[in-house]
Amino acid sequence: MPQQLTDRFGRTVNYVRLSVTDRCDFRCVYCMAEDMTFLPRQQVLTLEEIARIARNFVSLGTEKIRLTGGEPMVRKDILELVREIGTYGLRDFAMTTNGSQLTTMAEPLRKAGLHRLNISLDSLDADKFRSITRTGKLSQVLDGIDAAREAGFRGIKLNTVVMKGRNDEEIPELIEFARRKQVDISFIEEMPLGNISEHDRGLALCTSDEVRTAIRDHHELVPATEDSGGPARYYRMPDSPIRVGFISPHSHNFCATCNRVRVTVEGRLLLCLGNEHSVDLRRVLRANPVTDDKLRQTIINAMDLKPERHDFSTNGDVQILRFMNMTGG
Ligand code: SAM
Ligand code: SF4
Repeated sequence: MPQQLTDRFGRTVNYVRLSVTDRCDFRCVYCMAEDMTFLPRQQVLTLEEIARIARNFVSLGTEKIRLTGGEPMVRKDILELVREIGTYGLRDFAMTTNGSQLTTMAEPLRKAGLHRLNISLDSLDADKFRSITRTGKLSQVLDGIDAAREAGFRGIKLNTVVMKGRNDEEIPELIEFARRKQVDISFIEEMPLGNISEHDRGLALCTSDEVRTAIRDHHELVPATEDSGGPARYYRMPDSPIRVGFISPHSHNFCATCNRVRVTVEGRLLLCLGNEHSVDLRRVLRANPVTDDKLRQTIINAMDLKPERHDFSTNGDVQILRFMNMTGG
């Protein structure tokens, strides 16, 4: 049994989200400013450094890794990293993607050892999709979702950030789409990460309760009995195998059962999505190129910094200055 990571509040940390790039081919309005400056190359971890961090987390009890970004697929050689981490014997190995490159990448990713995919999809209307992502093309993502289904992943889930006045009217269509494609879907409340100009987050907030009401006009929703082990609360419909999840950072605080930490592509270990507490792993990695003892001890010590909870306000004020693409969503 490997050593376990435990924080001051008795929570076991066994899930790591690794950001592999801050770059992206989309510019989603809730995630990025239109005009973003990305990190210079020397500040970004190499693939070997990312794998080294992953390996050491696994030796400390990590059972689940998710690769994210930015858009993981814009990182050159991402397949090499997936292939390497795929050998670590994880219980769950997943990626979050915008789906833009899945037509060519879905099968190679699955063959390289990835278990599951989360694919972001905020609209089924090509014009709205373009206005939310600023640069994205809906048809490309829909083809990507089909390619992912054909590739035979253990699980595929769609992620939708719901915003009033932008895509809240589409909730029933998105549910029908997920039912037809037989993939799970989660609806996410927008979080105040980074300063955006396109809409007022306070006014655009669509709570999970409101989304559930919109779905219940069409389908019965029964709370799922199994524990998801994550922040999403899941429901099922009596006439479909898919699960419908709700991630509610505003209306339902999930911190008490938080089992995760994040590592940015600069090697900053973030102990909480909604707080700035962090530890610089890149400095430790680069100062100790041969042995991992210092790195492991730094990770173990960092657990003491994990805050008890996040506290997002709903008035649209920015509390966390880093954008989601830096955080690793
Ligand atoms: N590029 C990939 C994608 O879009 O799926 C992975 C990275 S993205 C930052 C991960 C997830 O975070 C996406 O599902 C996205 O919709 C979500 N996200 C980004 N900014 C957010 C925000 N401010 N509030 C809530 N979710 C957000
Ligand atoms: Fe890119 Fe994902 Fe952020 Fe959209 S949510 S801009 S796809 S990183």
